[in-house]
Amino acid sequence: MSPLEEILHRRIAAEGPMTIAEYMATCLGHPRYGYYPTRDPLGAAGDFTTGPEISQMFGELLGLCLAQCWLEQGRPSSFVLAELGPGRGTLMADATRAMRGVPGMLEAARLHLVETSPRLRDEQHRRLAPLMPVWHDSVANLPEAPLYLLANEFFDALPIRQFLRSGEGWCERVVGLAEGRLAFGLTEPAPHGELEHRLADTREGDLVETCAPATGIAEDIGRRIASQGGAALIVDYGSARSLGDTFQAVRRHDKVSPLDAPGTADLTAHVDFGALATAMPCATTTLTPQGVFLERLGITDRARALAARLSGAQLDSHVAAHRRLTHPEEMGSLFKTLGAFPEGAAPPPGLLDT
Ligand code: SAH
Repeated sequence: MSPLEEILHRRIAAEGPMTIAEYMATCLGHPRYGYYPTRDPLGAAGDFTTGPEISQMFGELLGLCLAQCWLEQGRPSSFVLAELGPGRGTLMADATRAMRGVPGMLEAARLHLVETSPRLRDEQHRRLAPLMPVWHDSVANLPEAPLYLLANEFFDALPIRQFLRSGEGWCERVVGLAEGRLAFGLTEPAPHGELEHRLADTREGDLVETCAPATGIAEDIGRRIASQGGAALIVDYGSARSLGDTFQAVRRHDKVSPLDAPGTADLTAHVDFGALATAMPCATTTLTPQGVFLERLGITDRARALAARLSGAQLDSHVAAHRRLTHPEEMGSLFKTLGAFPEGAAPPPGLLDT
């Protein structure tokens, strides 16, 4: 048994079954044995890959989208440029390189990164040091100022809870022990105040997921944008409303059981974008498929311009990257973008006001 498995077994034996959220938070975040603190999970040699790691076009277009918001809101002379869960720093490096073409923008920006993994902070430092980033453990610690924020594949890593509809109540899905091994179980049905509104759109046996950390962070970002100005672009896999079990584990680009070898696989769940939008006290855009969003921002023109300098295998991989980011059968439809902006301001380019 691995040290983390032993810790989980001991905790369950002493305190009883744990929520999916507690299991997920421990597996991903345990300071010594957790998934994120112990590795760089990204890239071909890692467990999964992400939009910015697939092509520079992803970060460039998101950066220019934020730049347009900054111009339209009167070029605030000092603002916070923030990213949540910046991974290797690739998205912000590409975004800020594109922003260099916008006079005055980087001079006005102060870069703040929200990242808990020391390993990934080192990676981010290697790519972003000239921009003198300041790191935080939590969104709550960002300075109060106009906020221009990116978050790609951040919200999916936050711990969820799962509830199975039973009559007018809910059984919570938990992780316990059966025959000496980690196993899923269910609590007795009970009413759940925060799921009251889901009684109207679910049936007996349906499973719904909640993510209190995600709605808390969305509320904080939305409050800042409403009071100080700015914009947020949140990109992730998910849908407008949680329905069904989306808790998953990925190791070396393959799906595995979330209970198998805890701490060695990436654990995620689909993002409930409706819950994020509802939590934000600023204006939000309609939820837009990533492929549509990137096409509206001009990815095809950008892809052609880059292609002109490439040939052979490099050209093939560039064409494949464009397809991967935008095609409905690849990341184009599963991944969505939600924009946040101040009431009365223009929505971020490529996204529509609700
Ligand atoms: N945005 C990057 C990386 C996505 S992986 C990309 O698109 O390539 C998820 C990132 O979120 C990692 O950097 C991880 O360390 C970070 N992360 C996960 N949970 C976090 C938390 N609770 N607080 C801050 N960062 C977190």
